[in-house]
Amino acid sequence: MVAPAAALLTVSVAACSGGGSGGGSGVAATAPLDVRFALAPLLQIAEAGQWRSDGDDTFEVWVCHVPADSTAAIYGGLPLRLALTPAGAAATFTARVTPYYDALSGGRYRPVFVAGGEVAMAAGDEPQACVDAAIAGAGDATRAIIAVADAEHAAGQVGGFGSGGDPCPAQPPCAVGASRRSAYVGASDFNPRWGEVPPMDLVQHEIGHTLGWVHSGVDSDGGYLSALDVMSNSAAPRDIDPQRLDAPGTLAVNRLLAGWLGPESAWVAPAAGGTIVLAPSAGAGVTRLAVVALGDDTFLTIELLVAAGPDGHLPADGIAVHRVQVADGLVQPIEPLVGSPPFTDLLQPGESLDAEGWHVEVAEVAGAADGWSITVVPNVGA
Ligand SMILES: [Zn+2]
Repeated sequence: MVAPAAALLTVSVAACSGGGSGGGSGVAATAPLDVRFALAPLLQIAEAGQWRSDGDDTFEVWVCHVPADSTAAIYGGLPLRLALTPAGAAATFTARVTPYYDALSGGRYRPVFVAGGEVAMAAGDEPQACVDAAIAGAGDATRAIIAVADAEHAAGQVGGFGSGGDPCPAQPPCAVGASRRSAYVGASDFNPRWGEVPPMDLVQHEIGHTLGWVHSGVDSDGGYLSALDVMSNSAAPRDIDPQRLDAPGTLAVNRLLAGWLGPESAWVAPAAGGTIVLAPSAGAGVTRLAVVALGDDTFLTIELLVAAGPDGHLPADGIAVHRVQVADGLVQPIEPLVGSPPFTDLLQPGESLDAEGWHVEVAEVAGAADGWSITVVPNVGA
């Protein structure tokens, strides 16, 4: 799949370079080749990596036994050890994480959790040692592993980590032994104090990393500020309603990278600006993502988020705008541009945003049945 996709991109670049871009015609701007040209840096990443987010994706669940005398700072000498088993943790993930991604992807992606094995860590081992052992022990049909420690992490330490892994050495998909796709979490979310329904937002966040997604809304200290994205403050819904123990939804750009929102569902603003009706980015409407190309590798992404499902913690439906940059073939941390942390006061009908030399305005009567009408124009003289 990768080779033909790359060839397609090459064709679209050549066609668009030859065709000129000065017309500003709305028809030309919505043509698939122009969209592909404008979004090429994102689509190249998407097409190389979306084998991970398509269909069933088998994770082996491993348990890391942290010795009582562990000297790893992440465990902070905490004494609690939970009686976790690979089968038990896999059952919890199957009950909570699989449905989350099934819904988030509109049925396109389904992480499948199966019991892996157990790792007895040495006193000096860091979590990565357990991850490495799990990868080494995983089966050939396994695409990724998730390791769960039986010890909690000390205050101030990260809750876990995840990696989208290396490109497959040949035609994807490939086994975890080749890609090293992996996630790891501490035991905090399995603490009996949570009762029968533990929070699963952290695991949902780390699985997002295994799909190649990066953080959004992070500050210079590494804090997660945004309530709009599983890849930012995944616990944001819980901050608003203690009963919400799953992560928020995710951004349209992550849906694009995952292949759950195709370039045919994106609209790229012509150089002179334009107006488009945006359907919810989490839905199935015609146009679900508006993009302003700020340069060859930097974009404004504009989308309609609906206060329902995983985004039910939002105070109201509204338009979110993010700044997305690709550097060295990687998406950089994504920046929310509407409002201030936690960024939940989205643009409402009649409101506008000026950012990066562009004016984004929501129509006064925006909430039509087929979506919200937005107008995007360059800020002359800004
Ligand atoms: Zn993360």
